[in-house]
Amino acid sequence: MTTARAARVPWTLADALGYLTPDTAPAAWKEAVQSAGRLLQPAWAGDDGALAVTAFALYTAAHQDGTTPAEVPIARVRELLLLDGLPEGEPRLHVAAGEVLHARGHRLPQSFSGGYWDGVGQVYQRLIYQWEPEEPMGDMPPGPSAMRHTAIRLLPRLEGLTDDHVRGFPPAPAPAPGYTIEVADRVSKVTDNSVSTVQCSTCQDMYGGTVTVDGPEVRYLCREAHLTEDRRLEARRVIAALSYADDVQIDRGVVRVGQLLVASSTMAWDFDPRSNRFV
Ligand SMILES: [Zn+2]
Repeated sequence: MTTARAARVPWTLADALGYLTPDTAPAAWKEAVQSAGRLLQPAWAGDDGALAVTAFALYTAAHQDGTTPAEVPIARVRELLLLDGLPEGEPRLHVAAGEVLHARGHRLPQSFSGGYWDGVGQVYQRLIYQWEPEEPMGDMPPGPSAMRHTAIRLLPRLEGLTDDHVRGFPPAPAPAPGYTIEVADRVSKVTDNSVSTVQCSTCQDMYGGTVTVDGPEVRYLCREAHLTEDRRLEARRVIAALSYADDVQIDRGVVRVGQLLVASSTMAWDFDPRSNRFV
């Protein structure tokens, strides 16, 4: 048994690939993620959004064209990123990827709060989210999605890149594996002014249990092994929480911690849960 800082900081390309690769994802999706990693690897700068959007473009084009993600020409990726799609100003990929996810049987909810959805659908949903004003009768259009912002960043980078270039790039690294975290104490979601404990939705237990991180999917299993999914637990923040935790031990791939303080998904990426005065 070793005592170590368990979190992988900084966030490498392998970590970003791992985040997009839940075990349960279809093989074509995993291939799309690896191909996107290969394409972006020479200029990898921690841009998770670019990786995800490129993976969706390759997955979408491969399905539409009856080919494999690795064989999708770069021109098809650029075409899906063009900003003349729907809703207005969004990349064509916004609607096209949603249709392909639906056709391939990925589970997509109507909103962030309803229903279970798979990891790939989860990443898609975050990318296409458009902020809308509260009053339904207002004529203010919804804001741009993260997918649109990413397409604007990505298009110039893909300009001038040919399929021959891409074939000359080395393969992307293997995706980093997920985590199994055994928690002796509580799992707490922390904002700048609140601390709340994750509770089993079946037996209401909130002490001890296991947190698993598989790609973007986070699950809490209480000591009775009831499954709870908590939207405020976000994979990257759970992984980051391991670098804050005391008494981290790693034993045959299982991480053991006392208390796990996780920045709530509503907080900024650089929020340190230990800065909350109630912690
Ligand atoms: Zn339970």
